[in-house]
Amino acid sequence: MSNGLVNIRDQKFVLFEQLGVDKLFAKGKYQDYTVEDVNMLLGEAEKMAVNEILPTYSLGDQQGCTFEDGQVKAPPCFHEPYKKFCEAGWNVAYRSPEAGGQGMPLSVFYACAELFNAANFPFVMYPGLTCGAGGLIEKYGTEAQQRKYMDKMYTGQWGGTMCLTEPGAGSDVGALKTRAKLLPDGSYQITGTKCFISSGDHDLTENNIHAVLARIEGDPPGTDGISLFIVPKIKVNDDGSLGDPNDVLTGNIEHKMGIKGSATCTLNFGEEENCIGELLGEERAGMAIMFNMMNEA
Ligand SMILES: Cc1cc2nc3c(=O)[nH]c(=O)nc-3n(C[C@H](O)[C@H](O)[C@H](O)COP(=O)(O)OP(=O)(O)OC[C@H]3O[C@@H](n4cnc5c(N)ncnc54)[C@H](O)[C@@H]3O)c2cc1C
Repeated sequence: MSNGLVNIRDQKFVLFEQLGVDKLFAKGKYQDYTVEDVNMLLGEAEKMAVNEILPTYSLGDQQGCTFEDGQVKAPPCFHEPYKKFCEAGWNVAYRSPEAGGQGMPLSVFYACAELFNAANFPFVMYPGLTCGAGGLIEKYGTEAQQRKYMDKMYTGQWGGTMCLTEPGAGSDVGALKTRAKLLPDGSYQITGTKCFISSGDHDLTENNIHAVLARIEGDPPGTDGISLFIVPKIKVNDDGSLGDPNDVLTGNIEHKMGIKGSATCTLNFGEEENCIGELLGEERAGMAIMFNMMNEA
């Protein structure tokens, strides 16, 4: 019977007959996969989409996101499926097993993601952005940054975002004004405002790790002078426990015509000059690094 979301027969035609994904299983990192595995994964994705995510489609839009006393809440109906989605490993399905992912071929995951996205795209944005931001730390972060941030993002315990856009810098991202000042201990003081940040604040996770584009003091204008910083909502102690709030305040959420279950936030970094970020990758390589995430989005 049709699942009402995606035609699975069409998906299998594209995967096996058009793309020939089974050729990937001949050798190399996917050699333990079989066609039966792919069929099984599609079946499990279909169950997750139809039984857990789809029931939140209309309800999530009706409940919407709320912003009270400086705290954003995601639609209440998202909480239970978010837990199940992460427990089943769908949030990091195509990340490497060494980093905590499921190691699924990207083409197979995208077929599964088509089901999830059709069931409720605003819901999927929360784990999707976290996987994307965590992926930047997996690829460009130090071992210490991976243990401190990525591990908990990949389990779904913490969320993640991409912070590019500012009130005066949308398409022209090189015009951004968010600043980073080097501190004696090697960390950076972050100051600036980002807007339209998807999953910018919510209560699905206990912390939110922002990937923030900013310009280090003295660096050139335009995109060549932009660096990328890991900026947690709540500071993280060396032992991994949560510390003090990191002076990242939500200014507001957008009241949109659609995808109302997705929290689109204005975030103010460092209004009290107490927002600390860690450089991710090389100085002035921020745009190139961020494109890894944008290309996955
Ligand atoms: C629902 C939603 C979620 C978002 N989530 C995120 C997020 O998670 N993180 C994030 O950083 N940003 C996010 N954004 C912001 C998004 O990336 C920006 O809206 C986008 O970059 C465009 O910027 P802008 O809105 O300032 O529009 P502008 O840049 O002002 O563009 C307005 C119009 O002018 C056109 N235009 C711009 N420049 C030119 C030009 N040189 N020549 C011709 N036409 C031009 C554009 O095509 C557009 O039609 C989100 C936006 C929305 C709506």
